[in-house]
Amino acid sequence: MQPQNEVGVTSKAKLWAALLCVLLLIVVTFVVLRSGDRPYAKLRNPDLEYLKAVNTVTPPKDPELLFILMTEFANSNLQDEGAEFFSARLRKFEPQLTPVQKSLYLAIIGLLRAQHASSVPLLKRYGYVKDTIATLDQAKQLSGGQVFVVNWIAGVVHTKLPGYFHQREAAHGELAWCLEHADKAPHPAWLREVYYHLGKLALNDGDTAKAQEYLRRSGYSDFDRRITLATPFSENRASGHAFAPRRITEVVPGRVYALSGFEFTEYYFVVSKDRHQLISIDAGTRPDFAKGAYEALQAFAPGLPPMTTVFITHAHWDHVGGHSYFRGLNPRPKFYGRGNYQEEFEKEFNGPEVFAKQFFGERFSSEDVLSYKPDITIDNRTDLTIGGSKFELIPVRGGETHDAMLIYLPDEKVMFMGDVIMPYLGAPFVEEGDLQGLFDAIDLIVRRNPQHLLHGHEPLTRVFSSPLILSHLNTDLAWLRDQVLTAIRRGDERAAIHESNLIPPDLLAHQPDAHQPYYILREHVIDRIYDQNVGYWEANLQGLAHPGRLDRAELLADVGAGTVRSSGVDVGVGGGRGSEERSEERSGGGLGGGILGNIAMSFM
Ligand SMILES: [Zn+2]
Ligand SMILES: [Zn+2]
Repeated sequence: MQPQNEVGVTSKAKLWAALLCVLLLIVVTFVVLRSGDRPYAKLRNPDLEYLKAVNTVTPPKDPELLFILMTEFANSNLQDEGAEFFSARLRKFEPQLTPVQKSLYLAIIGLLRAQHASSVPLLKRYGYVKDTIATLDQAKQLSGGQVFVVNWIAGVVHTKLPGYFHQREAAHGELAWCLEHADKAPHPAWLREVYYHLGKLALNDGDTAKAQEYLRRSGYSDFDRRITLATPFSENRASGHAFAPRRITEVVPGRVYALSGFEFTEYYFVVSKDRHQLISIDAGTRPDFAKGAYEALQAFAPGLPPMTTVFITHAHWDHVGGHSYFRGLNPRPKFYGRGNYQEEFEKEFNGPEVFAKQFFGERFSSEDVLSYKPDITIDNRTDLTIGGSKFELIPVRGGETHDAMLIYLPDEKVMFMGDVIMPYLGAPFVEEGDLQGLFDAIDLIVRRNPQHLLHGHEPLTRVFSSPLILSHLNTDLAWLRDQVLTAIRRGDERAAIHESNLIPPDLLAHQPDAHQPYYILREHVIDRIYDQNVGYWEANLQGLAHPGRLDRAELLADVGAGTVRSSGVDVGVGGGRGSEERSEERSGGGLGGGILGNIAMSFM
């Protein structure tokens, strides 16, 4: 589903007004002018409540928070409430907003209204849609027609309107503008929908050949889709998951290279000061991926010195699985890693295997991981000089794994973070994660005050981007931990802890940089603390019995038929009666897709 793999140096600007680098993850379902039953999400969605709180105090410093809230309203089927919410904020903040900021609010209101149109009574719908078109027009005027996200929203909505609204030409213009100004998109994957919708327009004009060409460029297989994606993520059966479109960035010109989107994991390469040695940070997930990334780097920066050294940040699948490719190079590089890597192997390979090929592609092999062994083990803080470049190797327990190693370039002020800050606090399907380890690691990092924090995965580099954010998180997450532990002792259910929408006292008013990072961590930190502190019998007696999916389905059927008399616990006990065939069915279908879906939705 990746439309184009573009390799080039990226801009780092991230400004309200320019909006060139609004890095968005939007997974939105558009159902424009289509009637039908639309189930409503549960009433107290803690993510929605948190994002509303953040967007209420002041216009967010990072406009991405507007779009994440828009997406949350849309995915909760609360478009009407969302349009009202943003309209009220626009009225309140109007005197302090720039025209471009106003255009973003209006584009969001237009989009949510368009999605809500199918629920408007038929007699009022025509007028409602006309007003929505006017809202989008106003957004375009205020933006001077120069803001990618505004044109993208207008183009997508206008394409979906029935012909009698006469917006096809406008749609064409807006989408064509997006194509011409692809460099203004938050990231190249936004073009996926531009191609798709241009294809729709061509189809409508009867130009099948053109439509098919646009469809091919969109990466989609047909025109029958109800989901609209603006996520940088891509999925592919052969190559697995990538968090971002491909690109190579010179973090320190000529010295430190970052390769994104070549697979699940980032690649980093350092050229030594004397330019005689190349050092790699980590080794990717598969030997073929490591080869692809290494060759792309050489094409990007010809004449690089030979690779002599590989530093391993931790022994997760996706950081050592490609080691055999680097080992096969001539000369053979030396691997430095933690001595306790095998403890980590035990943890990661005790978890369910279902995720591996989905994340890392069909050809992923656990043997490629398990054959890893460092040449030199590092278990104490170590200073090294390689080709005139100073490296500080700092073993930490980390937030994610106990075999973590930070790699710091003091002269360049670059910190290679590995997965020390992983929002799931450890892989979510593995029994690991250490909040105190995260706090200790953050202290070490903040004390060095690095200029660049380069994480093992692109979204982490984007979100957890400064020592200031990390120090805020230390305070906020310590507060969260206390709240969660108190709730656990009280016997609160996990769902109740989430629903209480825990927001640290200082966050909203004084830590704008931490609004999104805390949001991304909160859900998973609660889950991990709960998992690590509650036994398999929970305070409300859940966990005493083991109802499977079929048992729950039967229960729902019974509720529907009005025959249920007993409490949840009784149902659980009754649930043990499944036959052999049933348990096979239970262990089948759905699980991987559902959980992967959740990860994709919440990991922004
Ligand atoms: Zn990891
Ligand atoms: Zn990783």
